[in-house]
Amino acid sequence: MKKKIAFYALLGLVVVLSCSKDSDDSPPSNGNVDKTANLQVTGSSANDILSNTNFDKLVFEIVYVDGFRPTTTAITNFETFIRERTFKTDIEFSYRSLASPNEESLTTEEVDDIEQENRTAYNDGTTLAVYIYFADAPSDGDDLDEGLVTLGAVYRNTSMVIYESTIRDLASRSNIISVSDVESSTLNHEFAHLMGLVDLGTELVNDHEDPEAENHCNVSGCLMRAELQFGGPTMKLLEKNVSKGAAVIPVLDDECILDLQNNGGR
Ligand SMILES: [Zn+2]
Ligand SMILES: [Zn+2]
Repeated sequence: MKKKIAFYALLGLVVVLSCSKDSDDSPPSNGNVDKTANLQVTGSSANDILSNTNFDKLVFEIVYVDGFRPTTTAITNFETFIRERTFKTDIEFSYRSLASPNEESLTTEEVDDIEQENRTAYNDGTTLAVYIYFADAPSDGDDLDEGLVTLGAVYRNTSMVIYESTIRDLASRSNIISVSDVESSTLNHEFAHLMGLVDLGTELVNDHEDPEAENHCNVSGCLMRAELQFGGPTMKLLEKNVSKGAAVIPVLDDECILDLQNNGGR
């Protein structure tokens, strides 16, 4: 078991590192749209997401591959989560479908290329824009049989990818856990990284970072556990919640909430 956790942690680290690596490049902006504010490192907009100091409106540009639109239930849960933890009250979602890129798997670089070609919403005045891509192909390097699959990732301050086909595959194997449960859990986990958790732009109040999994929480059952970006462990955790009679979708523990409150959140 210990060996497994270490491996998840390692994978997690790779995701985070590849995110930060991409973020230094600032390609020239197209036309007169200034993209600079949306090309920053992961976690650097945490305070802007949490508080209303610089931005009082949050818009989500949801771009999904034809047939891979997220469920309405998941987006409703996601919006509730944001309202609970941030001071944003003006929140909008827009949806647009794209043709499949026809890839067997996607690297972070490929996901980023798709964003550069298709994203249209950028920060504007006091409106903060976040882009989420729902993919029809798994993350590069996944092993579905082992459950060692990536459900989602963040790769810049306002950029997320959700591996929707992977989520549907996993949920279809369970009688208890629905697609929207896994989508909600993944959306909340990844967005919490954009809100700066854990120690990713939002400072720790008390030390609760997992020493074996950078930017994840060591509190059992917390939404920010490192296991929650991977398929097999996520399904196990959600099923355990069901059997305990607890809420299916994991929530943030007190330490993570305290960090958010200390950085302008609720
Ligand atoms: Zn994570
Ligand atoms: Zn936590």
